[in-house]
Amino acid sequence: MNHLPCSASDAKGPFDEIEPGMRPGEALEESNRCLYCYDAPCIQACPTAIPVPTFIKQIATGHLKGAARTIMLANPAGASCSRVCPTEELCEGACVLNDASKPILIGRLQRYATDWAMKSGQSLLQAGAPNGRKVAVIGAGPAGLSAARELARFGFEVTVYEAKELGGGLNTYGIVSFRLPQEVSLWEVEQVRSLGVELRTGVRVGRDVSVEELLASYDEIVLAAGMSTVPMLGIEGEGLAGVYDAIELIEGTKTGMSEDLAGARVIVIGAGNTAVDAAVTSQRLGASQVRMVYRRTRQEMTAYAFEYEFAKAEGVEFRWLTAPKRIVGDASGRVSGLECVRMELRPAEDGGRPVPVEIPGSSFVMEADAVVKAIGQTRHLPLIEALGLEHDRGVVRVDPVTLRTSNPRIYAAGDVIFGQGQGEAMVVSAAQQGKLAAEAIRRMSEGYGAETA
Ligand code: SF4
Repeated sequence: MNHLPCSASDAKGPFDEIEPGMRPGEALEESNRCLYCYDAPCIQACPTAIPVPTFIKQIATGHLKGAARTIMLANPAGASCSRVCPTEELCEGACVLNDASKPILIGRLQRYATDWAMKSGQSLLQAGAPNGRKVAVIGAGPAGLSAARELARFGFEVTVYEAKELGGGLNTYGIVSFRLPQEVSLWEVEQVRSLGVELRTGVRVGRDVSVEELLASYDEIVLAAGMSTVPMLGIEGEGLAGVYDAIELIEGTKTGMSEDLAGARVIVIGAGNTAVDAAVTSQRLGASQVRMVYRRTRQEMTAYAFEYEFAKAEGVEFRWLTAPKRIVGDASGRVSGLECVRMELRPAEDGGRPVPVEIPGSSFVMEADAVVKAIGQTRHLPLIEALGLEHDRGVVRVDPVTLRTSNPRIYAAGDVIFGQGQGEAMVVSAAQQGKLAAEAIRRMSEGYGAETA
């Protein structure tokens, strides 16, 4: 397939943001519907505890800078989260107006305020007075940036090491532009840098800078490296032309190197948010048919409900209880199909998720021109082991309150501590974990002990 130039800043294209922002009149009307509840359940439902009624009141009274500051202070990824959070499961799901009429459109109001701050070039926060301590953060995704931002506010000298050329992690590279334009996460990166945080991009810890060097140069380390690559399926045909990694496929649309899937019949393997994004991305890259295969059912898929509904509306087809066995190739070494088997679910002995079991003699071939692998991502095991951290199959063990690892000078946040088999962590949870790690480091440095954070 050819590479197509593609940019989020192009005039209306398939990867331009779908959802329009609120107009001022709409935002005013919506914010005036809020009841400003005492003990507001929307705050409790937000993993970063954004003071929702406060920022809504600030919008209602025309204080947009205050509203943006309220949001970003609580959630350093607040602009991205206004677009990617499953709000119907979080703040909007908890809004008391669900019982009376319809919930306040909290996500869209949050976007209204943060969009205003972005467009008007506002600087919202300041660094704290230097306290003489230095922290290295590994990874500039939502968890790492959040930790770095908070530490800078507390007066720490912070350096963030990021393997990619740009900061922002998944928000910059892994979430499709029509849902989250790259300039939004890059604005959040700039907000962190504006507090004096040094961002060393294109630097991989373990390759360009050693773990020993970090341990010798910094008082504490926050490990927020996220996830690694999409693993191999372990089936025949993975080396054929036309087999793609979902993360790379999406990343291509955000870095100007999109694949051309015009007219292709695409099969996506997996059922998480990244798989759904890869399916819709394939559709927008011109695929004539996009099918997703998943060995369990709709009930077990980890993609958010709104992602699933969106993919269905875009024409993506789903094949449940279907597992890939072999990628079929033609004489030229290109994908020509996917051999699958049908599955049935049996109850798990430990009471966990039902176990898919192959139905003997049920194999069949689905014709295809491209296969996209979206079966989760591997862990940064070499890095975790180089740091000498205790882990469970690549999930770093931490104290649940302080996020301190088995090395008392190292804390961890984001996908590196997110459990096996649960897909990826929410952006908002990663941001909160970054805050928690920073707060624990602050308390330690002030002599309180991380345990009491
Ligand atoms: Fe406003 Fe709904 Fe939150 Fe109450 S629960 S403060 S009505 S957004």
